[in-house]
Amino acid sequence: MWAYGTSKALSETIARQNRQGADLSPSEGVERLEVPIPSLRAGEVLVKPVASALNYNSIWSSRGYPVTPFQLVHGHVSRNKRDDDHLADYCIFGSDAAGVICEVGPGVEGWQVGDEVILHCNVVDDNDPIAKIDSLKSETQSIWGYETNFGAFAEYCKVKSNQLIRRPASLSWEEAASFSLTLSTAFRMLISSNGAQLHAGETVLVWGGAGGLGVFAIQLAKAAGCKVVAIVSSESKRALCEQLGADFVVNRTTDGFNRLVDEQGKPNYIAWKKAKTFLARNGFATVDVVFEHVGRSTLGFSIYVCKRGGRIVTCAASSGFMCDIDLRYLWMQVKSLIGSHFASYEEAKEAAEWIGSGKVRPVVHSVNDFSQLGARMDEMSRNETFGKIVFRHAPAMSEE
Ligand code: NAP
Repeated sequence: MWAYGTSKALSETIARQNRQGADLSPSEGVERLEVPIPSLRAGEVLVKPVASALNYNSIWSSRGYPVTPFQLVHGHVSRNKRDDDHLADYCIFGSDAAGVICEVGPGVEGWQVGDEVILHCNVVDDNDPIAKIDSLKSETQSIWGYETNFGAFAEYCKVKSNQLIRRPASLSWEEAASFSLTLSTAFRMLISSNGAQLHAGETVLVWGGAGGLGVFAIQLAKAAGCKVVAIVSSESKRALCEQLGADFVVNRTTDGFNRLVDEQGKPNYIAWKKAKTFLARNGFATVDVVFEHVGRSTLGFSIYVCKRGGRIVTCAASSGFMCDIDLRYLWMQVKSLIGSHFASYEEAKEAAEWIGSGKVRPVVHSVNDFSQLGARMDEMSRNETFGKIVFRHAPAMSEE
């Protein structure tokens, strides 16, 4: 079957170039592969995707940074010995898809060949007792198509049956494939009791408001009755955030939010103060919650700008994970820094229901064929895209 990801040979070349300090584009680390259709083990399901979506984790994978896809899969298998068939001389990328079940492995209950499904990316062993409380606390937990093999960007992909969600009838295939990873992540970060648990009337500051996470953070916060300040880097992204309901949009390139740290990543206290004053002058003197995923360039300011007793919830560090923060602004003003990662099955399912019922809408940037994958990855890495980039695989039988 065809697939997109990386061979061991390409991954080793990328790792070597990284060690030599090369600044590689994501498109240099992804290739078309011809590989066998994966065979199923107990509890697994083979799905033919109709559409899939790009996530930023494929950019990390193709760059082999901070670790290579093979190191990640190795880590998954060392925590999940029964998945040793994931160790191969290729890794298939992709953590979001919607498609049709075409084979069901031994022991799978409640799912049949022909079922139309959305695949969420939380791979976890349900037999681990802690997984019943919160699957993200299980050592078995991994992200499908990032820390595991057999991801979404292929003719066929395989998942555990506990990754399946029924496709809401109201959504097109492209919409159904687009949202699960980022919406579920934003849902846990903002709505769930595992995250910031927003209250109506609060103000939420959303970094990257037009990005894959941001478009959902804005909508979720509005649906929770909050005020939203979104930060973006262009006027077209400002317009999108306004359409999604943001009450105020900052353009970080023109409004003084782009030099919050110096070249070494140290706090620029003068820029922090000016940025905080800018928000106050525009009616947002109080920020209750900050939605963080940028890291090095912004985390220190996010902690500073948040109100006394407020919450900063973070799931990533696109600009760098070694951050200089000034802890005085955290402890002396009793703020909470909450770490968050994807979502449990229940959170992902509830998030999908918010989409199904129309409370939140998918935001599809474009529908592409796979010849566009490298170019789209490069655009995403340069912050030139918005919402979700979708790839069409094949027509579903119902459409043929
Ligand atoms: P995305 O679609 O590329 O959007 C991220 C946005 O962040 C960019 O469009 C950009 O918006 C903004 N940004 C990037 N660098 C910035 C900087 N230096 N300063 C200020 N803003 C900056 O990506 P995404 O899907 O939202 O994902 C964002 C990050 O979260 C990635 O690192 C991804 O791997 C991670 N993530 C983690 C999880 C998890 O479960 N832990 C889940 C999903 C995503 P503007 O240029 O418009 O400001």
